[in-house]
Amino acid sequence: MAFRGVSKEAFIGTVTLGVVFVVGYLFGKKRKPSIMNLSKSHGTNGDDNPLMQYILRNSMREHPALANLRQKTLEHDRNVMMVSCEQSQFMANLARLIKSKKAIEIGVYTGYNTLSIALALAQDGVIVACDVDETYANVGKPYWKEAGVEKKIDLRIQPALTTLDELLAAGEADTFDFVFIDADKVNYDGYYEKSLRLIRKGGVIAIDNVLWGGKVVNPSPNDPATVAIDKLNKKLHRDTRINLSMLTVGDGLTLAFKL
Ligand code: CA
Repeated sequence: MAFRGVSKEAFIGTVTLGVVFVVGYLFGKKRKPSIMNLSKSHGTNGDDNPLMQYILRNSMREHPALANLRQKTLEHDRNVMMVSCEQSQFMANLARLIKSKKAIEIGVYTGYNTLSIALALAQDGVIVACDVDETYANVGKPYWKEAGVEKKIDLRIQPALTTLDELLAAGEADTFDFVFIDADKVNYDGYYEKSLRLIRKGGVIAIDNVLWGGKVVNPSPNDPATVAIDKLNKKLHRDTRINLSMLTVGDGLTLAFKL
């Protein structure tokens, strides 16, 4: 398929994103994160990039508990998995915009974004937080409490597909407002299909890492994660059940709006 609407600059930007991610990841592995590090998004490491620092300093309105949890998360290994603060704030604003009461998060890690979304939900709102390992979620729990929203967070430790099936079996189809998918990439299509049944019309599914460090441009058949993401990206482009945007935020963020 020809992409006449895609500019050369956008193409170069995507490739650059991949290179920056790989270089940034390798470089990042060799040093401890600095206290000034506001963002851990791929390729936009805050303290390396003056423009990113400007954006963060002039737009972040991070709740103190979120700031504390971010700093705590930077002490842990695999902290590259944390959603960047600016992406998390954007998604929380999106959840507010559609007056979300019920949300689902697939892939919790230390629960930074879980907390960010919980703060954005209505007072009686709930976020069903899905993960297979409670070790990292336990890092976030004291900060959920510090922010006073621990009652809004329904943490379910089991395969997310099982949790989504349970929600469907409990008659909760068409009742959720916002879903964030950020777990194992080979199951992305399953997460998407079940989430689409669970959200209401006008609800939003946000899908993370849709550029996968730029690897989606030329996926290797031996790389199941890249193949799965690329396949879902192409499927969503044709999916008439949704409106669609693919954003170059972080490592690529797709927004699917249920029609
Ligand atoms: Ca991610």
